Amino acid sequence: MPAYRGTNVSRKLEKATEEDKKQRKRKKKTKQTITRAVTPIGLFEANPGKLAALDQMMAVYLPLCQQYTTLFCTQEASPDKYTDLVFETDLSDRLHRVAIQQAAGIAKSWRTNRQAAYEAYLEDQADYAEAKAEAQGRKQPPKRKEPEWREWNLPELRVPVIQANANVVVVEKSEDSTFDYWLRISTLEKGNPLRVPVKLASYHKEVLKDRSLNTSTMLHKRNGVWWLTLSCDEDVPLQTEVSAPVVGVDVGIAHFITTSTNKEYGSFHGKMARQHKRDREKRRRKAKLRACLEKKGVPSEQLPSTSSTTGQRLGRFVRQEINRAVNEMLKEHPNARIIYEELNVASMRFKARAMNSYLSASNLAHIPEQLAWATAKRGMAAHTVKAAYSSQECPHCHFVDRANRPHQQTFCCIVCGYQEQADRKAARTLADRWGDTELVACRDKKAVKALLLKRHENWKQKNGLVVVQPAVQLGSWDLSPTSTDVAEC
Ligand SMILES: [Zn+2]
Repeated sequence: MPAYRGTNVSRKLEKATEEDKKQRKRKKKTKQTITRAVTPIGLFEANPGKLAALDQMMAVYLPLCQQYTTLFCTQEASPDKYTDLVFETDLSDRLHRVAIQQAAGIAKSWRTNRQAAYEAYLEDQADYAEAKAEAQGRKQPPKRKEPEWREWNLPELRVPVIQANANVVVVEKSEDSTFDYWLRISTLEKGNPLRVPVKLASYHKEVLKDRSLNTSTMLHKRNGVWWLTLSCDEDVPLQTEVSAPVVGVDVGIAHFITTSTNKEYGSFHGKMARQHKRDREKRRRKAKLRACLEKKGVPSEQLPSTSSTTGQRLGRFVRQEINRAVNEMLKEHPNARIIYEELNVASMRFKARAMNSYLSASNLAHIPEQLAWATAKRGMAAHTVKAAYSSQECPHCHFVDRANRPHQQTFCCIVCGYQEQADRKAARTLADRWGDTELVACRDKKAVKALLLKRHENWKQKNGLVVVQPAVQLGSWDLSPTSTDVAEC
């Protein structure tokens, strides 16, 4: 009875995965696994012939990966790393699959980021329409500019990189003492993998000591040199107590970090902002010169580059400063449970825009990434919560409106009059949102706003205030001082 047996087996499998899930959940409570990437190791010991074979493989791999990336970004269905092989290639099926997986990863994050930006745009658009209608009602010209959507460019893979697994790149410990490892890399020549020796520097040895490598590796080529990145998993026991104090963290520009305990860490203002301004001016001058020379017919390979090394250096410096701010904050809150905002590229871009693009969104986005990493490393509990309207929500009466922020630095509720420094209030709101199951259930920002305004309605009823209009229309309320609501508060 093969059919019967079949169902039996599958049920058994189901049970096993349920049990697996439970076990994983139990484990999650006591420890977290973090993956640590080791600083890239230069493959200086390999002979030129071997590296040429690697180059040849990459010359086929990268275009294939690009084809799948473009496909995954433009097709309707979401990227599937198990999809059927679509394109023709000289690569082995294993390398082909690795290229698909890498492309799926790139496309997935590109699509998520683009979608978030598009939703932010739609929201901007709705806000704009509202403000415009309001201005027309008062017979005034609209103050704001209509938001514009610019379609995102598809990802272009420029740096030769392969994110490999054990199917195509195997790391073997070296038997003799000359080298530390041998890399076995699949190339175009089937059944004849490349063997490349790897020599570790002392700092690599220090990091890898007492740690075991995992099977994912990365190979990339930069400035004519091939680099290997190894990574290892590490289990860190969770130190945070169930009763630990909850600390909210707001991410910003005036201060990289503001906590609900009213402390600030790091800032982009001052020296860093000045340096950034100088760098931008320099790049602009270079671009002008380039355009001028181009007009005169100078061939493109002789034109000066517009990318700037000082810009790259500044980016590194900003990230270092962010890391320092995060470390300092965690040092001062060693027993806390950290609550921060979900990494949302659109809102990061919005925050960066508020600073005249002095700080690029990617730099700001480094803050939540670093928070996740630094807490995990210390065995501290950290959770993300939805950030939607966290800067506009009143912690007292839950009223949400842009008007609650009369200035960048101030929060002042136009209904109940609650007032606080804006970033500190945002940090407190994030902390309050942890464990808020109703909020977790909200599917988008619109749902978040509806929920918060429903809570505001409840607050009003509790406080004996008359509900003048149904909650749905709250957004279009006339909030001038003559409105009954404001008069009552
Ligand atoms: Zn209020």
